[in-house]
Amino acid sequence: MKHKKQFETEAIRTQSERTQFLEHSTPMYLTSSFVFENAEDMRASFAEEKEHNIYSRYSNPNSTEFVEKVCKMEGAEAGFSFASGMAAVFSTFAALLESGDNIVSAKSIFGSTHTLFTQFFPKWNIGTSYFDINDLGEIDKLITPKTRIIYAESPTNPGVDVLDLEVLGNIAKKHNLIFIVDNCFASPYLQQPIKFGADLVIHSGTKLMDGQGRVLAGVTVGNSDLVDKIYRFSRITGPALSPFNAWVLSKSLETLALRVDKHCTNALRLAEYLEDHKKIEWVKYPFLKSHPKYEIAKKQMKAGGCVVAFEVKGGLEAGRKFFDAIKMLSLSANLGDSRSIVTHPASTTHSKLTKEERESVGISDGMVRISVGLEHIDDIIADIKQALE
Ligand SMILES: *Cc1c(COP(=O)(O)O)cnc(C)c1O
Repeated sequence: MKHKKQFETEAIRTQSERTQFLEHSTPMYLTSSFVFENAEDMRASFAEEKEHNIYSRYSNPNSTEFVEKVCKMEGAEAGFSFASGMAAVFSTFAALLESGDNIVSAKSIFGSTHTLFTQFFPKWNIGTSYFDINDLGEIDKLITPKTRIIYAESPTNPGVDVLDLEVLGNIAKKHNLIFIVDNCFASPYLQQPIKFGADLVIHSGTKLMDGQGRVLAGVTVGNSDLVDKIYRFSRITGPALSPFNAWVLSKSLETLALRVDKHCTNALRLAEYLEDHKKIEWVKYPFLKSHPKYEIAKKQMKAGGCVVAFEVKGGLEAGRKFFDAIKMLSLSANLGDSRSIVTHPASTTHSKLTKEERESVGISDGMVRISVGLEHIDDIIADIKQALE
């Protein structure tokens, strides 16, 4: 039997063809277009009778290498890479849906995705029905003949709630719907939604994949027929990932497993520390025994991820004071970065939602989200400790 390479090895050894210079590391292909041998070569390439890069809006060796790696990591057939995570989200839905179609989505989703569904898709007569993440039994009732897609994130941003992907996958299968998972919080190293029935997996490459806060990127991988539709839509509308960013990301993926392991050990240590702190109201982290979905997290994830959510006792005022007292951690909106980052979702990423909408997805005014980085855990805890005091 042929030896099957492990995740870490695929992340390092998946590489586009070497050039005549036999370079060890993949070079950057900063070119907008590609040349042809002759008229017949060009005709056949445009007719898709042969594989040939034509124009970097369609494909480029750097983005091809990046996508190929993500496909191997997620166990996917095909994929396409985008300039940002939101470009991936928008293009995936826009390519697959017709006017009149409906999405059934988890209520707790990324803020911009929520805004896309509620404020922009209705312009094209695409509606969204939302289910409560604690009541997956409700989904059957939301499905109508117009429903095309079931959509969820797990763990969720910023509440780090966990949804049972296997249950969602089975519901989608029963109703013959496309099941799409935003897997950005877990990264392909911790969780592979296709194993649980997902047809497509979306990532914001900006987060753990780059892991160093340098570039924006997005990628959608999964079933090849669906990806083909997304590709055809995207090569015309032009949300393509730049070759430079694709090169950066492909390099970043070589260390994904190592980095994510460390993020997870640090995050668990911090979550345990906060759980015992008298100034903390509650702490949420998928691999804490106190997490309401701990068993499901254990079933579908390798470790708990980099994000810890908690509430400082004393609500908004105490939360603001805590923020202002932070010395080393960055007050920023990104996550999955080597630098630890603190955010206040109610006043930033989810400020476009009403207070009621926020509360219905588990975001209280005093809630703090920490993306635990790769600094020494003692230094991360020391900063939080002094800020709490
Ligand atoms: C950040 C994020 C996105 C959007 O990605 P961008 O690269 O910022 O466009 C989508 N989903 C989740 C869960 C995210 O955290």
